[in-house]
Amino acid sequence: MNKNMLYRSIPKVDILLQDELIKEMTERYGRESVMASIHVELARLRKFIADSESEAEAEEQIQLLVSGIVRTVEAAHTPNMKKVINGTGTILHTNLGRAPISRAHMEKAFRIVTGYSNLEYNLEKGRRGERYSHFEELLCKITGAEAAMAVNNNASSVLLILSSLAKGGEVIVSRGELIEIGGKFRIPDVMEQSGAALVEVGTTNKTHFSDYEEHITEETKALLKVHTSNYRIVGFTESVTIDELVPLAREREIPVIEDLGSGVLIDLSKYGLSYEPTVQESIAKGADVVCFSGDKLFGGPQAGIIVGRKKYIDKMKKNQLTRALRIDKFTAAALELVLQEYLSEEKAIRNIPVLRMITEPLDEAARRARSLARMVRAAGIEGRVEVVSCESQIGGGSLPLERIPSMAVAIRPEGISVAEMEERMRRLPVPIIPRTVNDTVMLDVRTIETEDFKLVAAGIQNLTGLEK
Ligand SMILES: *Cc1c(COP(=O)(O)O)cnc(C)c1O
Repeated sequence: MNKNMLYRSIPKVDILLQDELIKEMTERYGRESVMASIHVELARLRKFIADSESEAEAEEQIQLLVSGIVRTVEAAHTPNMKKVINGTGTILHTNLGRAPISRAHMEKAFRIVTGYSNLEYNLEKGRRGERYSHFEELLCKITGAEAAMAVNNNASSVLLILSSLAKGGEVIVSRGELIEIGGKFRIPDVMEQSGAALVEVGTTNKTHFSDYEEHITEETKALLKVHTSNYRIVGFTESVTIDELVPLAREREIPVIEDLGSGVLIDLSKYGLSYEPTVQESIAKGADVVCFSGDKLFGGPQAGIIVGRKKYIDKMKKNQLTRALRIDKFTAAALELVLQEYLSEEKAIRNIPVLRMITEPLDEAARRARSLARMVRAAGIEGRVEVVSCESQIGGGSLPLERIPSMAVAIRPEGISVAEMEERMRRLPVPIIPRTVNDTVMLDVRTIETEDFKLVAAGIQNLTGLEK
């Protein structure tokens, strides 16, 4: 074959720029971006010809040049981060963005963040304000604390609290509470970054009051409790509660700090879950500073929420680290909106997606699963579609042992394997992440909003019966 002829038949750049499709791309995305894609595709084509042993195949690739350029330009302008459908039944899925934010809240936040806002401006007084002012009162009202603030995430809370209250001194913590929070991040390591020295007391399964008592010295700046939110020690165990630690700390005039992790503001045991300590309770028992995540059971944006005594919170607000860890306007806006829901428990359950999912009654999940199954069957699929019982879990390092009875649409594909089906679902324009169990692909409806059912059915429609 004559490779030189093939190379010569590749359209030149100025010819390509005259192509109608490419002109359209130039108008939409700009000349620079289109030129970059043209160079990428031309290089790819030349390499193909160099490596090819078939003239027909090489000619075919030359024919496909324009469509390749269009695809490359469009890919460069399509966000890589996208909406996905969570069919796994894991409500706080760390890989899928943890707590979903409600559309209604985002629509309200949208108006605030797309223009200017009073983020740090006091409209009443006409001067500089505080970014926490929008939600500090709400947090105090709901939790019973004197003061509040928020930082980037809860790992930041721990860092800021210890840096502000215990830098250069010692902090006593139980060995049973030295947790790893995922992604190899360990609470003890985060604490060390604060400049406070950890004094570990007790053993993994048992820590007594006397362990704290015996280790308190002149150097002790705080007593720290970490709620073991992502694992449970069961069996022969003992730990010391906040109310036991408070008198000891008061005597020494040092604070008791509690890292609650999950940040529950309503008693979830009313809804059939096991009891998880609430922030209000921790404050009521005398904890001086309490911190928790914004995007775990609280159900809001990623944040580290800190509540407690004003004298301690004031120290944190003045710490230079706060500037590095501060929340942005999206978070400030979303936190206020979510907190307003907590003014009434009924509203919180209805309007905060995480709480709505956790508390959805089984019969309601069953009704929705039947509806999704009907839509999937109607869309047309080769395979069996059934409604089956399953179990959802909380995830995100919260309530690790908890299983919530739920309902799923189970698809047993014909003609392709479950692994193939799962992969095709992942590659959809709106990817669907299912749970696969033996020979079925399961979609737990607890984590799928009804408004997304159409998307699921439309996505699944063409997945089976295709050639590999
Ligand atoms: C999850 C968790 C953290 C970390 O919170 P992020 O918001 O993910 O930074 C810290 N402490 C405890 C006890 C946790 O459960």
